[in-house]
Amino acid sequence: KLSRRLQLIADFVTAGSRIADIGSDHAMLPVYLLQIDKCPSAIAGELNRGPYEAARKQGADAGLSSRLTVRQGDGLSVLEPGEADTVTIAGMGGSLMSDILEAGYKAGKLVGVKELVLQPNVGEELVRAWLLERSWYLAKECIIEEDGKIYEIMHAVRSAEADALNAQLYNGDFLPLMLSKETEYSVLKKMGPHLLRDPQPILFKKWRHELEKLERICKQLSGSDLPESARKLEQFKAEINVLEEVL
Ligand code: SAM
Repeated sequence: KLSRRLQLIADFVTAGSRIADIGSDHAMLPVYLLQIDKCPSAIAGELNRGPYEAARKQGADAGLSSRLTVRQGDGLSVLEPGEADTVTIAGMGGSLMSDILEAGYKAGKLVGVKELVLQPNVGEELVRAWLLERSWYLAKECIIEEDGKIYEIMHAVRSAEADALNAQLYNGDFLPLMLSKETEYSVLKKMGPHLLRDPQPILFKKWRHELEKLERICKQLSGSDLPESARKLEQFKAEINVLEEVL
C-alpha cells in the first residue's frame, strides 16, 4: 500500500500516460501505477547505484520488467525526448528539483511532456518560480500532513495559455491584505496560489511553524554583530511581518 503522499501524487497522474519518475528510489510510484493499469509503461530514473538496483529488483519482483524501464543517471538525462507524457519528481528539495527541470528543459528532455507532478520537500517557491519562468500552468496543488511531516504536491500542465492562466492565478486581489503587488506575488509563490485560495488549517500550521523558526533565527542574529547578520536580520524581519499579515 502506498503512503498517502505517494497516493496523492499517483492521483494527479492522468490515466493512460507514459510516466517517467525521476529520483524513483524503490520505484514504488511507477510500480503502483503499472499495477493498477493507470499507466501503460513507465521509466524510473535514479542517480545512485543502491536505489537503482532496488528499483530494478522491485520491478522484477512485481513481474513488471517488460513495462518498467529502470535507468541510472542524473535527473532527466535518462529520458529521450518524446518518451514520456508525465514526469513525476518527488521527495527531494525544491532547489535540486528546479535544477533538474531546468537542465532537462535545456537538453530538450521535456519536449512532448504534457504534465509534471512535483512534490518538493522544501523550497516549494523555487519550483513555482521555475514553472512560471518556463510557462507551465500550475493547475492544482494540495497540502497534506503524514507522520508529522507536511507535504505540498503540485500538478502543472503545458498549455498555450499558460502565461495568461498563471497571471490570473498569481493575481493576489483575493487576499484580504494591504500588500504591494510585488509582495503579494512573492507570498503567492511562497505559500501557493491554490493553497491560499482554499486555505486549510494545515497550511497555517506549516507557516506558523516557519514563523517560529524565523523568529528564533532573528533572536540569534540580533545577538551577533557581524555586518552580514544585520542584513539577514532585516530580511528575516521583513519576512516575518509579511507572514504575520497573511496568517
Ligand atoms: N521519489 C521517491 C519518493 O518520493 O518516495 C523517492 C524519494 S528519495 C528521498 C530521493 C531520491 O532521489 C533518492 O533515491 C536519490 O538517490 C534520488 N536522486 C537525488 N538526486 C538525483 C538526481 N539528480 N537524479 C536522479 N535521482 C536523484
